[in-house]
Amino acid sequence: MQTLTHFINNQDVASAGGASLDVFEPATGEVYAQLPDGDQRDVARAADAAKAAFPAWSQLPDSERSRLMMAIADRIEQRAEEFAEAESRDQGKPVALARTIEIPRAAANLRFFAGAILHERGEFYRTDDRAINYVLRQPRGVAGCISPWNLPLYLFTWKIAPALATGNTVVAKPSELTPWTAWMLGQVCRDVKLPPGVLNIVHGTGKNVGHEIVAHPDVSTISFTGGTATGASIASTAAPMFKKVSLEMGGKNATIICDDADFTKAMPTIVRSAFQNQGEICLCGSRIIVHRAVLKKFTEQFVATASSLITGDPKAANTDMGAIVSEQHLQKIESYVTLAKMEGGKVALGGNRAKGVGQRCRNGWFHEPTVIVGLSPSCHTATEEIFGPVVTIHGVDDHGEAVQVANCTKYGLACSVWGRDIERLHRMAAKIDAGVIWINTWMLRDLRTPFGGMKQSGVGREGGDEALRFFTEAKNVCVGW
Ligand code: NAD
Repeated sequence: MQTLTHFINNQDVASAGGASLDVFEPATGEVYAQLPDGDQRDVARAADAAKAAFPAWSQLPDSERSRLMMAIADRIEQRAEEFAEAESRDQGKPVALARTIEIPRAAANLRFFAGAILHERGEFYRTDDRAINYVLRQPRGVAGCISPWNLPLYLFTWKIAPALATGNTVVAKPSELTPWTAWMLGQVCRDVKLPPGVLNIVHGTGKNVGHEIVAHPDVSTISFTGGTATGASIASTAAPMFKKVSLEMGGKNATIICDDADFTKAMPTIVRSAFQNQGEICLCGSRIIVHRAVLKKFTEQFVATASSLITGDPKAANTDMGAIVSEQHLQKIESYVTLAKMEGGKVALGGNRAKGVGQRCRNGWFHEPTVIVGLSPSCHTATEEIFGPVVTIHGVDDHGEAVQVANCTKYGLACSVWGRDIERLHRMAAKIDAGVIWINTWMLRDLRTPFGGMKQSGVGREGGDEALRFFTEAKNVCVGW
């Protein structure tokens, strides 16, 4: 049993209060590590370190900040297998998913922003023949980065990388459910000699450590990814202090199947869009809206393909769906399946805890891929975020109604639309209330593009220039001629 530590000022630090939290392996249901249960004192120590490190870090040449971040990415890649195994054990995801997508993406996040600052262009505005204006974009100081459990290192680095690249120092908190790879990241930062205090990682619960980061007077910028209710709480703490806040929150994404979609060919991707990472990706399509002309055929093919998914030990090479992150989250998923039945839904596939996952995983938290049909698109099951391997399928009479149904929740994060009439697909994309729309693809991410949600899925955008601007303060300098 390993005891993890905070990473403050490049040192391994126990919690000031001495309290700890259990870290579980979802695949076995067993505790395998202890995590410091941080509090206000730990956050204060981290914020002091970050504040002290800010002047030197922000004044380093861009090329030097970039070099250090590239070195962190190199180390992650050198230790990729170790990171992938740790991520899988901590979160329950298939190790293959961590190995092929998530750990490479964490390194890519660091490389992308380390490169971006070397290719930045300035802005100039000539005011007739009277003046020239130029814009300075300067780091804001200490940034607080708070991330969730579903894509732990992937999302942690997605926030930290642009903050550091632009010259901010950071106090960061991973989810208390999945702290391991963030802890490893601290080791890597020390190995590459990132200056002390530039990145500080404080572990613990949201209500203690998370809240204290948001409330700390020296943390001027907050980048958060997590649930909508948590985002609302963060906004209410940060607003009276006039902090700059980016909130990436929950979703209930639609997958729209038009009457001319070649879904037979696309079915593996459409099924993956519903069940990848056990459906615990904010971008998963959990409401499938299908033109009635193809509803029967689509549903049969979707259920047949989903039924071939293997739910099992995350360590096994052939596992498609691993374990659910916690017993509590598994219970939430089960409660929605019960609710779906009460709301008149028919379970076309799955619906239960997964059995037969092997001896090692007999006490783990597994759920079958589940498909529910026959529900109204406005019912609770079809409009509330479940964040698990549960999908509802709804028939619509035309493509206008498909867009209406796609827009009928309080969320607006992502949507994928499948069809052949490209003009119609573009028109639909323009009308769908979501920050990320995929046409005939899913989860294809270009790190330069804006990323984020509308309505109660988000405030602000991450990615590319949006992130570089978020972590900087624009200052216009007007020079009279
Ligand atoms: P969560 O909101 O419970 O926790 C997210 C993080 O916030 C954790 O580190 C947690 O400890 C911390 N936190 C909790 N309460 C806090 C508080 N009062 N103040 C400050 N920090 C606090 O979310 P979760 O259960 O970890 O993650 C699942 C949610 O994340 C889902 O709703 C999912 O849709 C969302 N998500 C969104 C995106 C996106 O890009 N929009 C990406 C991934 C996950």
